[in-house]
Formats: sequence, C-alpha cells, structure tokens
Amino acid sequence: MLRPIDTVLTSHLVEAVSAAMPSARALFDDLAANTRGSHGISRDPYGRGEQYAYRLVHECATRLELQCTWDAAGNLYITRPGTAANTRAIVIGSHLDSVPNGGNYDGAAGVIAGLALLEAFARVGLRHRCDVSVMAIRCEESSSWFTGEHGGHLGSRMALGLIDPAELDQAVRPDTRRTLGQHIADCGFDPERVRRGPAHLTPARVGKYFELHIEQGPVLEMKALAVGIVDSIRGNSRLRDSRCIGAYNHGGATPQEIRQDAVVATSDLVMRVQRKWEELHAQGKDLVFAFGRLGTDPAVHSLSKVPGETRFSLDIRSGSPEVLTVMRAFVTEHARLIEDERKVRFELDAFTLSEPTVLDTSMVATLRAGCKALGLPVHPMASGGGHDAQEFTRAGIPSAMVFVRNANGSHVPEEAMTMDDFELGTQLLAWAVAAESDA
Ligand SMILES: [Zn+2]
Repeated sequence: MLRPIDTVLTSHLVEAVSAAMPSARALFDDLAANTRGSHGISRDPYGRGEQYAYRLVHECATRLELQCTWDAAGNLYITRPGTAANTRAIVIGSHLDSVPNGGNYDGAAGVIAGLALLEAFARVGLRHRCDVSVMAIRCEESSSWFTGEHGGHLGSRMALGLIDPAELDQAVRPDTRRTLGQHIADCGFDPERVRRGPAHLTPARVGKYFELHIEQGPVLEMKALAVGIVDSIRGNSRLRDSRCIGAYNHGGATPQEIRQDAVVATSDLVMRVQRKWEELHAQGKDLVFAFGRLGTDPAVHSLSKVPGETRFSLDIRSGSPEVLTVMRAFVTEHARLIEDERKVRFELDAFTLSEPTVLDTSMVATLRAGCKALGLPVHPMASGGGHDAQEFTRAGIPSAMVFVRNANGSHVPEEAMTMDDFELGTQLLAWAVAAESDA
C-alpha cells in the first residue's frame, strides 16, 4: 500500500534533499578528480577506476552510519533498515563503472542520488517498514570492457542469478587479459559462489527497484525539462543484411518506365517507413528507425548504369512490443507492394527481435504523482539505451526509472548534468521511494 504524502512531508523531503546536495556535489567532484584520464573519465569494472568509486561511496555510507554489505560479485548494498521484519526491500540501484573515456555522470548519478535520499530520510526521521537499500552495481558497461561471449549488464545479472556460469570464463578484458571470474577474485570477492548460486537478489527479498540515470539522448534538453519518467526501455527488431534485386541496364538507352531500378525501389521503401513513422509519432507512439547500411555494389555499379541491386540493413526500435510487431508487418507488406509496382525482388532476411522492457505501471504512476506533488511537469518517455532496470524486470522485480536532463550526450567526457537538475531528480526519487516504502 502507498504511504499518503501530505504537503508538509513533501516540503520536508525537498528541504532535506537540498541539505544533502553539498555532500553529493563533493562526491561528484572527488570522482571526477580521481577517475579522469587524459581523454575522459574511466572507471574500469573491477579495476582501478571502479574500485576507487567503491571506496569513496563506502566511506560516505560509513560516515552516514548506514549498513554496508557486499554480495559475492562485489556489488555493494547500503541500507537504511526498515521497522518491520519479513518485508521486501526497496532497492535503488545504479552502476559505478563508466565506459572508457566517458563522462562523470552516467551511472554514478544514480548511486549518489540514492545516498542523498538516505541522508534526507534520516534528516526527516522518515520511518519505513521495509529496508531501503542503495545498490552500487558492478560492470554495467560490460560490452565496452569485456569481449567474448556474454550477455552484458554483468554486475546486476550476477546479483539476480541471471548469469550463465560460463560467462565468468568467457568474458575477458582484453587490456588485462583476465576473465570476469579472475577479476572478481582479484578484488577479494567469490566467483565460485556466483557460479554456484543461489541468487543474492530475488523477488522474494526485493519488492521494488528504482534507478535514476542521466538521459543519454537530447529529449529533455530539447523540451526544456529537468526530469523525465522512464516507462519503457526500447527493444529492437532488425534486418541485418537484406537485398533489393532489380536489373542492371544501360543508363541512357533503357526507357525510364521499364527500368527495374533497385535504388528507386529501396528509396520507396525507406520513404514508406518514414511516413509510417510520421503517422505513429503523431499518435504518440514510441518509434525510431535507421537504414544504417545502404548501398550499391562497387564491383558492378557505375555512373552510367541503371542500378540493379542494393544491400541494406534496418534497425527499428521502440519501447512498445506492439509497435515492433506493426513495423515488421508493415515492412514485409510494403516490400511486396513495391515488388509488384517496380518489378524488383526484395530478399529480406529474418527480423531479429530483442523485446522492449515495459517498466512497472504502478511505480510509474507513483512517479507521476510525485511530479505533480513537487510541481514538476510529467514527462513519460522511453529509454533508448539499456539499463540494469531491465534485468530486474526480467528477474520479476517491478522496476521504474527517473531520467535527469544531460547536455552533450552520454558516454562522452562532455556529459553535463547540472546540480539543480540532479536535485530535482533526487527529490522525485525520494518522494516516490517514501510513498512506496509504506509507513
Ligand atoms: Zn549507465
């Protein structure tokens, strides 16, 4: 059941979050000063950068007299205990690693927001029945650091028991030539326990998962909004290597009306997809797409020939499973229509599918209520990038996310989140966790 939050408690939470901002700023500054190289921030998972971030966060938690525990994979849990036994915890998580030469905020902002929130709860004297834990997650940027066969988001997947034990040996950091398992052991944790299980986090122990993250795209910036509510994480459906086959012919002598021009036919498909996007976008549906590779064959094509073949890829992304289904059907149907009209043949390979993650509707509703209580515009949006929240959802733990405006993109040294926006995002997170943590 949700705790009703009146205007008095709301204003106390707002003040307490403000009071926690100087220590949050000091953490960001310390991280930047000590994990920045010549080309940006590098907090390498299970390496010097991430380890530094863990020491810093752990020291801060100790100063705040919060309980600290670690799991076998080296994820850290910083807990303000609840008043009732046998309740399921609320976890506020984010990652402490970064991409190589990235920015200071991607990942760390969520952990620092969690610490500020726990500090604010203590200041207000807020009682909650369940444990509220900040989880500092390892190795979210796995694909930037570890090669070999692995499923990414390694830190959260190990905590949630979603990892295949083989990944501990298959995932290798090329710069250190050490496997994930060896890295875990190097840091003093227990890869064998990760391998054996059981999972540290289960739906029986964790009732809800919140994550605050900087927005990785420019949407909040464009709309002049400080925060957004993430209601889904985009999945994708892709054509990796498809062809349109027409007929090569003399570029001067072949009458236009009988040409089987593969470039014209492919362009027709591109523009039909573009117009379908316009239609769905106008209905408020989430969709982006790219024909990222598109070309004629340099071995055959020529200035003076009718182009007889194209190869192309298509990447369709949406936070809605239905939209992906609609788009797959649309592309298949319109390729057939264009074949008839333009006397070409499309060889479409099979669409790949990575399902979108739909975040928990009732937690999203709490975040909407929080925006209203705090006087913030309500802006639901899809996340274009992947996050640990999708692994929690996959493990059966209801999850939701807050985005904070960030200029200049993410995974780059120029990431720019203002402390004012961070404060508003943290207020929203604190309000929602207070509401969800029951009195
Ligand atoms: Zn991130």
